Amino acid sequence: MKLYMCRKCDDVYLNLIQHNGDCDGHELNPLEVEVNGESYFEHEIYLRKTGNIVTITAGLDHPMIDVHHIKFMIIETMHGTFLQRFQLNSESSVTLLLAHDEEIDKVYVYCSVHSLLQYTEFK
Ligand SMILES: [Zn+2]
Ligand SMILES: [Zn+2]
Repeated sequence: MKLYMCRKCDDVYLNLIQHNGDCDGHELNPLEVEVNGESYFEHEIYLRKTGNIVTITAGLDHPMIDVHHIKFMIIETMHGTFLQRFQLNSESSVTLLLAHDEEIDKVYVYCSVHSLLQYTEFK
């Protein structure tokens, strides 16, 4: 998974096939992924599974206000990739229906303050 950022517009781009774009003429920079840094615990991923239904929450008490919120989450399983964007003042949580043998491999969280974090272990 490769993401790019335009520092002028504060926008994030997801590279699905081949990156060759810009942002209305602005340069895009690869977005660094934080794997086990200072803000790890604040954005930690919680999984709650009932049968094939899984609820994925990023940061149990994370703020969802203008100055600090989780903008999106990307969930990778062995079968596919899910992208969930969040509104302000909503819960930073999504519920998915998995195939019966499907496991979640990796979750990316993008926070307006802490940028992109990656998780491969869940609570
Ligand atoms: Zn731009
Ligand atoms: Zn944050």
